[in-house]
Amino acid sequence: MALAKPDIDAARRLLTEARWIGVISHERPDGDAVGSLLGLSLALAQAGKQVAPVLVDGLPSRYRFLPGSAEILSQFPRGVDLLVTVDCSELDRMGLPADQLPRAPDINIDHHPTNTRFARVNLVDAQASATASLLGALLPQFGLQVDSPIASNLLTGIVTDTIGFRVPGVGPDLLRQSADLMDLGAPLAEIYDQTLNRHSLSAARYWGLGLARLQRAGRMLWSSLTLEDRAQAGYAGNDDADLINLLMTIDGADITLVFVEQSEGKVKVSWRARAGLDVARVASSFGGGGHELAAGAMLSGPTPEVIERVLQATRPALGGAARGED
Ligand code: 5GP
Ligand code: MN
Repeated sequence: MALAKPDIDAARRLLTEARWIGVISHERPDGDAVGSLLGLSLALAQAGKQVAPVLVDGLPSRYRFLPGSAEILSQFPRGVDLLVTVDCSELDRMGLPADQLPRAPDINIDHHPTNTRFARVNLVDAQASATASLLGALLPQFGLQVDSPIASNLLTGIVTDTIGFRVPGVGPDLLRQSADLMDLGAPLAEIYDQTLNRHSLSAARYWGLGLARLQRAGRMLWSSLTLEDRAQAGYAGNDDADLINLLMTIDGADITLVFVEQSEGKVKVSWRARAGLDVARVASSFGGGGHELAAGAMLSGPTPEVIERVLQATRPALGGAARGED
């Protein structure tokens, strides 16, 4: 692990001294956000701390099976004397203005290379496949125990961020760590089923509307989803229902994009790239961030204009792959 020992020690001291610890992850939470939030919160609670786990967008229903998920709050109570962020690359990633946080973030635990190191103590390891994997290594160093409920949450973060161990960067160490979490009681097949295999009928209908609009330009494949699609499909979320991962299974593209229309003239853009390319940089240029192979950003403007702007800015990221245009 690429973290400095003094930083780990500083975080451990802060956690030991604190009484009431707020833990928060990012807006539109994914499995790593939820698994990391709950894994850390349960470990702290077990050590006798009062803990407030917060997701401003609440808990997506597919993660309700996770131990501790019933404790998640959508806002902070008064009295929090330490604030830890998990899987958040920027200060505004939590989904609420910085002045509405209970205090400035004390500890920032994350694995995004675009992390802006906004806290007092920053534990950022871009080599980690998931924040939950990083946490699995950190908890014992904080003097915290990992039991079966915690292991289930951590394995969920790992399984979802690696889309079931099938992205570059998954190596023997991550598989060994995952095996250890299974030894502690984490149910791999159930996690797989609840988080990756199952989709609601409304999500499938929503995909259908997006797939009907699939387009290709050279080595880029993209689709868009409108507010009307969402209503027509009866899809409750404001995301792409993981359509982007489905697009990545289609041959013939090196970069895929999904544009999801949001209310108030905004468009959420998701990028995915094949190994060797980098879409984090183009996402950062639009105020977003993420990883080389998976990144996102929120843009303003009518969807067709946003698509045009983003495709143009993304083309250089294809590098040599652009030559394969047909
Ligand atoms: P997704 O496209 O699935 O929303 O996100 C892909 C990756 O990009 C994730 O690692 C996520 O944390 C990051 N990401 C997505 N949207 C944003 C954004 O608006 N800002 C930043 N900084 N990162 C984002
Ligand atoms: Mn993550």
